[in-house]
Amino acid sequence: MLCETNKELAAFVTKARAYAKDGKVADYIPALGKADPNDLSIAIQYPNGHCVSAGDVKKKFTLQSTSKVISLALAIMDWGAETVFEYVGMEPTGDPFNSIAKLESNVPAKPLNPMINAGALVVTHMIKGRSMEQKFERLLEFVRELANDQSINYCQEVADSEYRTADLNRALCYFLKQHNRMNENVEQLISLYSKQCAIEMNCLQLAQMGTVFAMDGINPVTSKQVIPKDVARICKTFMVTCGMYNASGEFAIKIGIPAKSGVAGSIMGAVPGRFGIGIFGPALDEKGNSIAGLKLLELLSNHYKLSMF
Ligand code: GLU
Repeated sequence: MLCETNKELAAFVTKARAYAKDGKVADYIPALGKADPNDLSIAIQYPNGHCVSAGDVKKKFTLQSTSKVISLALAIMDWGAETVFEYVGMEPTGDPFNSIAKLESNVPAKPLNPMINAGALVVTHMIKGRSMEQKFERLLEFVRELANDQSINYCQEVADSEYRTADLNRALCYFLKQHNRMNENVEQLISLYSKQCAIEMNCLQLAQMGTVFAMDGINPVTSKQVIPKDVARICKTFMVTCGMYNASGEFAIKIGIPAKSGVAGSIMGAVPGRFGIGIFGPALDEKGNSIAGLKLLELLSNHYKLSMF
């Protein structure tokens, strides 16, 4: 077992926290700019219920792009993989998460993968529901089931802040709509997507979700198969190939853990068959990944030989 005690884990956190000063909190969504760049916390959740944690693990953050793995799982469970991948591709991209460039140069226009914004917007629009409210309720319920916590909700302030400033995402939607990749009212979809990204939790809850992916879709708390094994496999594969933005290749080589990050500073990791990881460190590197969070994972992966490769 890796890190038996909180004290052991805290020593890694102290080392990694020193890197936070080289990063910057995201402020293109203004409400995210309020985060404390020195925060760094981690929880490691084992399927047998044992949890090791360090840092201010009760501190809440919004999922942002980490939610893209969850919406993908739900959309595939709703429609089947074949249908979902008619609308979104499976290939990594060397471009930033919100880039429009490849949409224009790829014929036919199809987002390269579900982890970039264009792909995630298509995926979110595919979540089943008679109304936007129902789609969001289903997604939120699913998150609560994965994290074993019915109290999880979204942060209205962050959702409103993103909605007001999401013009680049609107542009992606209009482009995709013109090319028949979606048929949704763009304002409504941006509102739904902003709420999805604003779903709020702490490291302990994020690690619980990571454990479900690590255990092939089984929630160890309830022993229920909450995600079909094959869907969990697809999600984990995307976490490896596209989960850390356009730094995914380097991350696979240096760290080698399926993981997904978000611009509020979260990283959800899933070490196959072993445990889930939840990290929060809001100071980001230039690619949008938590700078101290990455360092922390690198230290742990090297020390405990966690790479799956
Ligand atoms: N809500 C953010 C956006 O769409 C998510 C980005 C991210 O975490 O990568 O810009």
